[in-house]
Amino acid sequence: MSTRSPVRVLIHGASGRMGRALLRLAAERDDLAVVAAVSARGDALPEAGAVPVLPAARLSDAPAFDVVVDFSLPEAFDPLLATCLARGAALVSGTTGLSAGQFAALDAAAARIPALWAPNFSVGVAVLTELVRQASAALPGWDADVVEAHHIHKKDAPSGTALQLGAAVEAGRGRAPHYASLRAGDIVGEHTVQLAGAGERLELVHRATNRDIFARGALEAARRLAGRGSGRVGFGALLLGGAAR
Ligand code: NAD
Repeated sequence: MSTRSPVRVLIHGASGRMGRALLRLAAERDDLAVVAAVSARGDALPEAGAVPVLPAARLSDAPAFDVVVDFSLPEAFDPLLATCLARGAALVSGTTGLSAGQFAALDAAAARIPALWAPNFSVGVAVLTELVRQASAALPGWDADVVEAHHIHKKDAPSGTALQLGAAVEAGRGRAPHYASLRAGDIVGEHTVQLAGAGERLELVHRATNRDIFARGALEAARRLAGRGSGRVGFGALLLGGAAR
């Protein structure tokens, strides 16, 4: 049992697939206390239990919190970032499809608050990203493709994770890969980086079968980020340290 007081968390995007998993898993931890849940409309949520659920329009009424865990939509991002700045609270965001302007605003905000955005909160993908960088550096002349598959409700393509893996390919061999995206059924998330040379092919694959892994990773990131100084940090660096980004 923890002797420190729990980190106060606001879950943003609480009614979504990820938000409901976050509420359920946060309730199992005694080092985190969810103080409010925010969704677009603020409808009652069974997973919230006694936690107050607020509509996005009343975000500024939320009680005091140390860190936000955000899995919502890009249109919700700007008011959320402004609220974190106004409260001096840390931000952990997994929302994908953010614009270049929104990433620039996040970088600027990180001068004043701790901030972490990651397209994927699985430990396996953090390790895969490093392996992809190493393999691409060792095989600079080979063709590189990033292929991703997700459920039919996913709005952005290529996925944020595919773009992270593509950046690792580019860091390794100096050129971006090609991307291909599939949307089918209820696939949680699959990513393959294929490096193809003459007469041989290397595939590095990650398959997520349960979105709880992302929720667990984001909650652990929230605990570690709260209480850190301002600045932007990557999920791999926060969890794995060392060479991970
Ligand atoms: P979802 O559509 O099921 O839920 C979206 C949530 O956002 C809902 O609670 C909705 O009420 C809320 N919302 C919508 N508009 C809002 C607004 N204007 N203000 C406040 N809240 C608003 O989506 P999901 O499957 O839970 O995914 C959410 C996001 O997380 C997506 O961007 C998805 O790509 C991303 N995601 C990231 C990871 C990761 O590991 N980084 C993993 C899974 C999903």
